Amino acid sequence: MDFQTLKLAKPIQTAILNLGYTIPTPIQAQAIPPLQEGRDLLGIAQTGTGKTAAFALPILDRLHRDRRRARPKGTRVLILTPTRELASQIDASFRDYGKGLTLSRGVIFGGVGQNPQVRTMSRGVDILTATPGRLLDLMSQGHVRLDSVEVFVLDEADRMLDMGFIHDIRRVIATLPAKRQTLLFSATMPPEIAELAAGLLSDPIRVEVTPQATTVERIDQKVLYVAKADKRRLLQNLLEQHPIPRALVFTRTKHGADQVTKHLEKNAISATCIHGNKSQGARERALVSFRNHEVRVLVATDIAARGIDFPAVSHVINFDLPHEPESYVHRIGRTARAGAEGAAISFCDPEERSLLRDIERCIRQSVPVDAAHPFHTDAGPASPATKTPAGRGSRPGRGGGRVAGPTRTREEVGRGRGDRPQASRGNQAAASPPAREGTPGNTRDKVRTGVPSSDREGNSAGPRGHRPTRAATSRSSMGSASTGNRPAANTRNIEGKSRRQK
Ligand code: AMP
Repeated sequence: MDFQTLKLAKPIQTAILNLGYTIPTPIQAQAIPPLQEGRDLLGIAQTGTGKTAAFALPILDRLHRDRRRARPKGTRVLILTPTRELASQIDASFRDYGKGLTLSRGVIFGGVGQNPQVRTMSRGVDILTATPGRLLDLMSQGHVRLDSVEVFVLDEADRMLDMGFIHDIRRVIATLPAKRQTLLFSATMPPEIAELAAGLLSDPIRVEVTPQATTVERIDQKVLYVAKADKRRLLQNLLEQHPIPRALVFTRTKHGADQVTKHLEKNAISATCIHGNKSQGARERALVSFRNHEVRVLVATDIAARGIDFPAVSHVINFDLPHEPESYVHRIGRTARAGAEGAAISFCDPEERSLLRDIERCIRQSVPVDAAHPFHTDAGPASPATKTPAGRGSRPGRGGGRVAGPTRTREEVGRGRGDRPQASRGNQAAASPPAREGTPGNTRDKVRTGVPSSDREGNSAGPRGHRPTRAATSRSSMGSASTGNRPAANTRNIEGKSRRQK
């Protein structure tokens, strides 16, 4: 299928062709036709699948075909997204895809002055992209009204939930007109989101895109066993001894990110970091210097890095293993964007062995152990009997007391896989509770104590957003797209049924 078969308005076709898109990604191929018919959609997809265009293109097409003036302070389309970075990027996508159209856009997020946003909204816009906190602020001040929304997109619903925005979202939804088209996107489907979707969507088409397997398979993964205290020196050693042109290093905490960055800088390795405590300006500066090859290493926490479309990252290094196996997939996916191959190196200290097992279960493959480094600890993975959370079972084919050895081959990895229990979302949800920034608890506390929404989004959200803001960096993120490569994905398309309760 090519874009012509999707019957999008001519200026939109020209715009996407100019961006180098030739073939719709699976989510685009499956979502765009029903969206053009006005159907609701439940999209289970994460960043990197082309989901922005999957909703932006039919929305632009609709607005172009049915020209009406937006009402003052109103908008015809509302896209709600968790972070300001994502909001900027989505808005930039609408700008790029809608280049040949004369549609007005607005972006609302915290952390910046509200006056320009108020001015933009005073005349009304065709497309409004917003984060929930500031949007509610402006609505309560009477600067924004949502009673003329025709299309509502709830993006990254599971992140919204993680970040404590679920009540804000419900407040926004309560003000939308009953007659509308609704799209909900979420990378995962925890019960709260399934419940929200059931109430929000009317007879939706369900499109599920699972890029994990294809992405993971393209990446050369390794795990390095190391004592916690040696991790920084191991990182330094890797960067000094190996050709690693551009590395994205993940730490679990903001403090850890700062410490690692300082250690590298002290040892003459150029590094910068992004995390939720950094100001918007500092994060953007860090991203730009990484993007421009001024620094070789970018240290990030999961939330700060989420969704950022980094350019050609040669290596992802997991300085700490994530508590959620899915975060591992998100992290290492940064090195295999748009069909590229990449390398992912994970440090694993003795306390992280159970996390490694959870990851291996999630990706349904063993991560080869690389013992050829000076800080190798030869203690094998802790026994599943002591570490595996209750009810998860031990895995056949992986002796619990296996001693870390040299890198295992793919064939060895492949053996014993077939009879391993498959990871389900339920299993993943049962993994150890995540210790990360912007937990719902923190965020809600701030909300309740009246901290302005700008802070809520700035600190708790961190950039889930991809690129530093596409607007600020032109379309370098589109560079990969213009090669004609498409984000790989397997899709399933199942008609889902649920009733809207309005
Ligand atoms: P998204 O999941 O929306 O963040 O998109 C991920 C990346 O894929 C972005 O850099 C898009 O520019 C790019 N992209 C989206 N659709 C296509 C397509 N049909 N062909 C090539 N690249 C695409």
